Amino acid sequence: MAKYRKENRDKILATRRKYSKKYYAKNRDRIAILHKVWGKTYRLKNKEKIAAYMNSYWHSTHKAKRIKANAAIKRCVMEHYGGGAAQCAHCNINDIDVLTIDHIHNNGAEERKKGPAGGISFYVLLRKNNFPPGYQVLCLNCNLKKEILRRRSD
Ligand SMILES: [Zn+2]
Repeated sequence: MAKYRKENRDKILATRRKYSKKYYAKNRDRIAILHKVWGKTYRLKNKEKIAAYMNSYWHSTHKAKRIKANAAIKRCVMEHYGGGAAQCAHCNINDIDVLTIDHIHNNGAEERKKGPAGGISFYVLLRKNNFPPGYQVLCLNCNLKKEILRRRSD
């Protein structure tokens, strides 16, 4: 058996890769939920370790860099969905700190179950997926107003 495995290593790996890909495609939603749960468990279990890391030298020296990089990603996403300029689709405010990405068809809650909850990982995902349609830029005020109107009409 060991000999067979040694001689057919590539073949075995290819088969394994093929099946895990299939499995992943079939169970994508389930896996996403599992990852979320695992992440939560890990964070709960390793609270001190994570806190120590957050206070570490490495983390603090890279903080500024990270903030800058994240701001660039956010600006890139906002400019794309704002039609060239990072501004609210309703009131045209262009203060990037108050701008958010809005799900035009109000399916945000549904999507958040599947993927990142929001914030930078959401922006990264949008950029990675080549800016899928169905989103617009709204400021926090207009976003809230839209939600109020939606609840009122339900
Ligand atoms: Zn607005």
